[in-house]
Amino acid sequence: MTLGEIAQTRLSEIASCSATGAGVTRLPFTPEHRLALNHIRHWMTAAGLEVHMDAAATLVGRLEGPVGSKTLLIGSHQDSVPNGGRYDGIMGVLLPCLALEKLHSDGETLPFSVEILAFADEEGVRFPTALLGPRALAGTYDNSVLDLADQDGVTLRAAITEFGEDPPQLDRLARNPADILGYLETHIEQGPVLETHDAPLGVVTGICGIERNNVRFVGRTGHAGTVPMADRRDALVAASRLIASVADTAKATNTVRATVGAISVQPNAVNAIPETADFPLEVRSISDEARQDFTDQIRVLGAQIARDSGLAFEMEQTYVQPAVACDIDLSETLAGAVQHAGFPLITLPSGATHDASAMSDLCPIAMLFVRCKHGLSHRPDEHANAADMNAAVDAIAGFLASLAASGSTRNHHEPPL
Ligand SMILES: [Zn+2]
Repeated sequence: MTLGEIAQTRLSEIASCSATGAGVTRLPFTPEHRLALNHIRHWMTAAGLEVHMDAAATLVGRLEGPVGSKTLLIGSHQDSVPNGGRYDGIMGVLLPCLALEKLHSDGETLPFSVEILAFADEEGVRFPTALLGPRALAGTYDNSVLDLADQDGVTLRAAITEFGEDPPQLDRLARNPADILGYLETHIEQGPVLETHDAPLGVVTGICGIERNNVRFVGRTGHAGTVPMADRRDALVAASRLIASVADTAKATNTVRATVGAISVQPNAVNAIPETADFPLEVRSISDEARQDFTDQIRVLGAQIARDSGLAFEMEQTYVQPAVACDIDLSETLAGAVQHAGFPLITLPSGATHDASAMSDLCPIAMLFVRCKHGLSHRPDEHANAADMNAAVDAIAGFLASLAASGSTRNHHEPPL
């Protein structure tokens, strides 16, 4: 059995730690989460790691390196979306465990410590917040999130405490950046680029920035049969023109992905001219400058469309998260490992947020993407094949071996032995 086939078996086993329904539904701090930790604990123990759960309910497996050595963090998340797949997140916890098993059986020892992290909550489905685990490590979490409640009124504080941990201890989790070599995350691509290139693996250049805007056109309602076409101030017609331009303008940039995924119209009746049209505009790009330029263009265009048809126009930014670049040195080491393992080097940005986004506040990050079938994720038929996961295990093991050979893994606080 290859390590990729072992990965496939273990992922199908842990997929049973799920609430009922199609696919995998594993929300944080639930009985399913607790069952999953038993599997992960076994994977970590088999990889020679000492296992404990921290105060953010992150399962931490540590391989102790020589005295005074830095620590390389590797991980991803255990949770899923409702009716999600069996690879998103959890695969990035399993494959590095297998890579450590492989290095161990090859007789390699590492001159640094390694920790594999299984974060509790990345998807942010249960609570209106996410990424508590990596934020606690980076020292960037906000205490007030502990008071946020799920739809049953259970606060995050109560959920973690009930799960067996102690939220007041969270502030002790922050790591000293000087002790950390970096953070590596392996994740399914969740898009079609690797499949298009017929490549099993991709090295991520960075994680796209995201902004969201509320856009509003206000016109005048009236009877659908009596108001002449020339006299209309139809908010939905104006919104439609702008939405079509959003897609065309984004297509022309090559770097921006822009989406209008919802719209609400008033009075919303079959025989009434729409008075208002409100929609969210979400924009993502690996370049913050390209994203801002794009949004500026859309704002000008919207104002012009409104002026031309006698409407009012508003556009207000409601959320912004800057892009995060992957570390050049770590990414080059990872790229070398991918090629050394015999695979083509494809580099690509991540359009989705990951635990690595929050970890970037602590230390340099790198990300490895694994091809997924038809680019599909967050659904029961999400799939990565055993050969591709085997390729990823080889690349992770190669990455660790290259870092070991590079000699830059000691903590600068400590004098050399
Ligand atoms: Zn994920």
